[in-house]
Amino acid sequence: MKKLSDIGTIKELLSRYGFSFSKGLGQNFLVNPSVCPRMAEYSGAGEGVGVIEIGPGIGVLTQELCELADKVVAVEIDKRLIPVLGETLAEYDNVRIVNEDVLKLDLNKLIAEEFAGKRVVVCANLPYYITSPVIMKLLEDKLPVEAITVMVQKEAAQRICAEVGTRQSGAVTVAVNFYSKPELLFSVSAGSFMPAPKVDSAVIRLNVYSEPPYSLSDDSKFFRVVRAAFSQRRKTVLNSISSSLGLEKAVVNGVLLESGVNPQARAESLSMDDFCAIAERIPI
Ligand code: SAM
Repeated sequence: MKKLSDIGTIKELLSRYGFSFSKGLGQNFLVNPSVCPRMAEYSGAGEGVGVIEIGPGIGVLTQELCELADKVVAVEIDKRLIPVLGETLAEYDNVRIVNEDVLKLDLNKLIAEEFAGKRVVVCANLPYYITSPVIMKLLEDKLPVEAITVMVQKEAAQRICAEVGTRQSGAVTVAVNFYSKPELLFSVSAGSFMPAPKVDSAVIRLNVYSEPPYSLSDDSKFFRVVRAAFSQRRKTVLNSISSSLGLEKAVVNGVLLESGVNPQARAESLSMDDFCAIAERIPI
């Protein structure tokens, strides 16, 4: 079963299963035939590689991944799609579908059970309502993955791939850069999906560091500081960190000065080293 990006084929398939799209689950299926092969190619899927896919939908990207990789494990929350995937992926014996919420899944355990001895990558057209939580889970769980290639809304892609220390950056930029080097790969128009979303998308790849460049006594403090600093973007770091973490201003002021950070600066102008220095000193 090929040509899953053909609108006629998709409509026939979905009507046969009585399937209707769920907006709440971010179900916008790819119908542009050029996108999935490119994504699969960029993902690093190949010989000796295991791939985790999140949200296979009807399996359009899954098929491309199955062609390239040793094995694919696709995690799909919507049980109505499981029989559809049984049909569209019938010709592949290197795929396993897991009917779960990816946010609740122990992915380290899954990798150990499914991909022993293989290199591992993640590739997905993400449901947009959980873009940041999924990306942060993949990184914070410290999975042994080499790269995470995902389709996200264009604005999210630009935010994630912005330079830390610039106006375009946000908490997610800093968090992602802690674990990986993000790269913007290519744009995808809204018309490439069925149903078409309101905004364009882009494919990004997070090249995960095998040895994290930042070594801290407690990583979780770094993420709490970053979230606090960006919680009120227009305020100074002194005000946003103290109010968000419930700390005395004088204490935060001292920490910032010891860290070499101007207390009147905005979060978006701080560097990775600034956030690390603050995280090592902040009394939380
Ligand atoms: N990969 C398909 C494609 O490109 O056409 C579908 C992508 S669609 C944007 C997102 C998919 O993620 C849907 O199939 C949806 O049911 C699934 N999904 C939504 N939330 C999920 C979750 N928490 N865990 C796993 N899958 C989820």
